[in-house]
Amino acid sequence: MSPLTLITAQTEEKLLAFLTEHGHTKFRAQQVLDWVWRKRVTTFDAMSNLPPALKNLLAEHFRFHTPEIVEIHGSADTTRKFLTKMEDGSLVESVIIPAAVAENGEKSERVTLCVSSQVGCAFGCKFCASGLLGLKRHLTTGEIIGQILSAETIAEKRVNNIVFMGMGEPLSNFDNLADALEIITSHRGLEIGARHITISTSGFVPGLKKLAAYPRQIRLAVSLHGATDEVRDQIMPVNKKWPLSQLIPALEEWSRGRNQMPTLEYILIRDINDSPKDASHLVRIAKRLHAKVNLIPYNTVEGLPWKRPTEERCRSFRDAVHKARIPVTMRYEKGHDINAACGQLRLRKEQEKNGSTPR
Ligand code: SF4
Repeated sequence: MSPLTLITAQTEEKLLAFLTEHGHTKFRAQQVLDWVWRKRVTTFDAMSNLPPALKNLLAEHFRFHTPEIVEIHGSADTTRKFLTKMEDGSLVESVIIPAAVAENGEKSERVTLCVSSQVGCAFGCKFCASGLLGLKRHLTTGEIIGQILSAETIAEKRVNNIVFMGMGEPLSNFDNLADALEIITSHRGLEIGARHITISTSGFVPGLKKLAAYPRQIRLAVSLHGATDEVRDQIMPVNKKWPLSQLIPALEEWSRGRNQMPTLEYILIRDINDSPKDASHLVRIAKRLHAKVNLIPYNTVEGLPWKRPTEERCRSFRDAVHKARIPVTMRYEKGHDINAACGQLRLRKEQEKNGSTPR
C-alpha cells in the first residue's frame, strides 16, 4: 500500500491547511477540490489550470485510489449488494438501493447507499452476521468515501442518500466518520445534504454524546431491537455497558435543539421481542423520545438460531404501535434474496477463505 494520503480523504479544511503551509492560497484549494469532486479527474496531471509546481507538490503527498469491487449480487428488487476489497485485502459490504417510486407515488431519483464504517464489528449483537468474526479495524475516512465512489461506478449514477447501516458501529469510529461526513456534505465534496444521511447506532452512548455536539442535521436511527434491558441484554451486549437508563437520556440530549425525530429500528424476532407487552414497552420509549418506529421482520442468518415471527404476529405488533399514534412503518429488508442483512456476504467469503464455519 502506498504511504501517500488519499486526496479523496481530505476535508476542505485539511487541504487548505496543507496548501497554506506550502505557500498556496485558498483559491488553489478550491480549484483542486473542484477537479476532484466536480470534474472527477483521477490524476493531478489532468488539473490543467494548476501551475506545474502545485501539481508536483500534490503528487508528492497525495494519490487517487478507488477500492475494487470483488463481488456483486443483484436482487430481484434491483437492490445490489457488493463486497469491496480494501488495499490490505479487508472486505466490507455495501448495498445500493435505487428507489423507483417515492412515497407520494411519483418516480423517484433517490439512490441510497448503505455503507460500512468498520471491518467487522466489536459489538457482537447476537442476531448479526457482522459481529460473528469480531472487529478487525476501523475504516479510514478515505475507505468510507471510497465505498461511495466505487458504488457510483457500479450504479452509473450519483448516490444521493447515505445510510451508515452496514458493517460496524459508526459512532465508535467517530473521527473518521466526522471527516467523511464533512466530505460527503460539503459543496466542494459529494454535496449530499445532511438530511439525506442517516447514522445508525446500536446504542454506543459515548459516541451519541459526540454526535449530539456535532452541528449538522444528520438523521439518527437507533437499533433498539428490545424495549427493556432484559431483552436488550439478551441480544445486544452493548446494553450491559450502556443500558436504557443511559441510552434514553443520551438520545434526549441529541434531540434537544434539533427539529428531528430519531428513528427506532426494531428487528422483530420470534419469541424474543414480538409480544404485545414488548409492543407496549416500545410505545412508551417512542413517546418519550418523540420517535418514529421502523419494524423489520428478521432476516434469517445461517449459523444463528433466531427466526422471523409469523406475518400475523408482525402485523399485530405494528398495529399495536400504530394504535398508540406512533408513526410506524414495517420494512422488509430489500434484497432479502441476496442476503442483504448486514455482514452475511463477507462472512460467507471469509469462511470460504478459511474453510471454517461461524462460531
Ligand atoms: S448490528 Fe451493527 S453494532 Fe450490532 S454487531 Fe451488527 S454491525 Fe455491529
